[in-house]
Amino acid sequence: MKYHLISLGCQMNMSDSERVKTVIDGLGYQWTDDEKEANLIGILACSVRQKAIDKVYSKISQWNKRKDRQNLITFISGCMLPSDKEKFLKLFDIVFPMSELKQFPEMLNQYGVVTQSSLRNMGSSLVLNKHIKDFWNIKPNYTSEFEAFVPIQNGCDKFCTFCAVPYTRGREVSRSSGEILQEVKSLVEEGYKSITLLGQNVNSYGLDKKGAEVSFPELLKLIGEYGKTSGKEFWVYFTSPHPRDMTDEVIDVIAAYDCLAKQIHLPLQSGDDKVLIRMNRKHTVNKYRQIIHKIRNTIPEATIFTDIIVGFTGETEEQFSNTIAAMDEFKFNMAYIAMYSPRPGAASSRWDDDISQDVKKDRFHRLSEALQKHTHTYNQEMIGKTFMVLVTGKDRKAGFLSALTEGKIVLRFASDDDSLIGKYLYVKITSAVAFSAEGVLIEVKETQPA
Ligand code: SF4
Repeated sequence: MKYHLISLGCQMNMSDSERVKTVIDGLGYQWTDDEKEANLIGILACSVRQKAIDKVYSKISQWNKRKDRQNLITFISGCMLPSDKEKFLKLFDIVFPMSELKQFPEMLNQYGVVTQSSLRNMGSSLVLNKHIKDFWNIKPNYTSEFEAFVPIQNGCDKFCTFCAVPYTRGREVSRSSGEILQEVKSLVEEGYKSITLLGQNVNSYGLDKKGAEVSFPELLKLIGEYGKTSGKEFWVYFTSPHPRDMTDEVIDVIAAYDCLAKQIHLPLQSGDDKVLIRMNRKHTVNKYRQIIHKIRNTIPEATIFTDIIVGFTGETEEQFSNTIAAMDEFKFNMAYIAMYSPRPGAASSRWDDDISQDVKKDRFHRLSEALQKHTHTYNQEMIGKTFMVLVTGKDRKAGFLSALTEGKIVLRFASDDDSLIGKYLYVKITSAVAFSAEGVLIEVKETQPA
């Protein structure tokens, strides 16, 4: 019996899929890359983009047609709005919230029955995360041998008006710090080099269990102390934090420990306070500025990434020019720029999407150009310097391997030696463009055996 799984959307779904695979592997199914030969096929949905939802409908229609000639069970989990879930229940054999994954084998045995209770469980955001602890206890079937994602928190209490996550994932729930530390330790012992702590609102970790659980900076400190005593080399990242919860203490802890990577992804979303209010972001540009100053003063070598939305409903030209000004002030190393589109279920989807597509495109290009100016300058300054990098795979250019610096600057260097993938080594930068650099291999870093 074979299975296939499709993950749509963000890193959280990618990470969740590793646990889904563990459960299905445990049932004796074998993975197949070809969905046509699968007897069990599932999808981890993403309700935040209409495109992803359209893909779900297109896939299930194809799969249901196959059922006439083939033994096939279909399932769906992931981020789903209540309105979508009800429709999916009529189309899929099994529909369940991710927190119920542990019960999946049981559902599979009697599919069509358990889905009804799953529907009830998914009706309320309060029970969405009822069994999330059981879910976290499942050991993931990691897809990489050197990079891993560790969920530390699920759901979100922030309710940004453009985002549906609080409705699809429910309210914030923090995982136990003991479990997180244990998962990080096992990964490091197995030789993992890049570990990303995941959460929708990662730095509000612990706030739902105040007094009973450590805070986010305390969690980082526990990991940092382990890194110090283990003698192993690894980089720990986290994503995505919210500026509101980005305290000085978090930045001080990152500065204090080698294993806490000097790369910070901090979504700005807009450089205009009035837009930020309409987005319900709960931070101002000035608050953001203070955090950037603290990072630059405490960890001058840190790279800073961000997310920005252009053409948010009602955004004037003047408000957009404040975002350009913020880009020029903060000089990000990378910005994931999105043209606003209403996300089903989010508060702003009820508002007029009144910025034309042409204006959105124009703003997207102008902001991208501003970004490129700064990344180009930064990357040019890397030329002649040597960086420790993690080799991530083969480059698109034949005869080259791709790698990332600790600050997640992408680079490549000439090598045919695939055995270097997943290893740290030193590369001297010889040339650079806006979003990547090229260099020559200096030496492979000796690391302690895993
Ligand atoms: S902080 Fe805002 S954008 Fe991020 S998950 Fe929560 S509601 Fe969505």
